[in-house]
Amino acid sequence: MKRSVRAAGGSIDYVLIRSRRGDVLLKALPGGETRVYAPGWARIRDLDALVCERAEEIRRMHAELESNIARNRLAHPVEEGSRICIEGAPYALKRLPGARVSLRLAGDACLLTLPEPEDEERVREALKRALSQLALERIRERLQYYAPRLGVEFGRVAIRDQRTRWGSCSSKRNLNFNWKLIMAPPEALNYVVIHELCHLIEFNHSPRFWRLVEGQMPECEFWKKWLKEHGKELGVG
Ligand SMILES: [Zn+2]
Repeated sequence: MKRSVRAAGGSIDYVLIRSRRGDVLLKALPGGETRVYAPGWARIRDLDALVCERAEEIRRMHAELESNIARNRLAHPVEEGSRICIEGAPYALKRLPGARVSLRLAGDACLLTLPEPEDEERVREALKRALSQLALERIRERLQYYAPRLGVEFGRVAIRDQRTRWGSCSSKRNLNFNWKLIMAPPEALNYVVIHELCHLIEFNHSPRFWRLVEGQMPECEFWKKWLKEHGKELGVG
């Protein structure tokens, strides 16, 4: 439900989402949308009052998000010749015009074809799409390799665009992976694949779970740390 409240310094629009949370959560989304997650029993006028009261904080959240996005873009240039890491190896980006988005690696060049190669936003979108496709292929390969070794069967596999999570698995045995893993060294991707598959046996991070992971990858600790330290460098802005 869309709401608009008058507050000091101008009105604030927000989208109200009823959730199962026990408390109220304010969230700033890219593009300027403010979301309020609230339990079903919370009254609209109380929520309006809360948004009004926290107007300053909401504006600050948006300003912070915008500057984070800007910083991320600066850290991940997508100009002609920019360095793009794929499976841990650096490639020089070449942007080519073409009707359909496609990505091809030739020598140390990453050839990205897309409809409007001058438009930076579209280049980011196209890269993300092409790399997600590649991520899905690689992850499927790795799953086919490790699942029989662990003696597990998995459900659906999906690629997600998440800021901090590398992978997750559901009680229905479906697996989700972050597309940015395709930019990391292959061992880091293997580690996350093994980690999620092991959760199909142990739904926790117990010593037993880690023994399973180590059984497939004795050096898992190194890649776990690598992702913690370098994860933020992955992505295209
Ligand atoms: Zn885990």
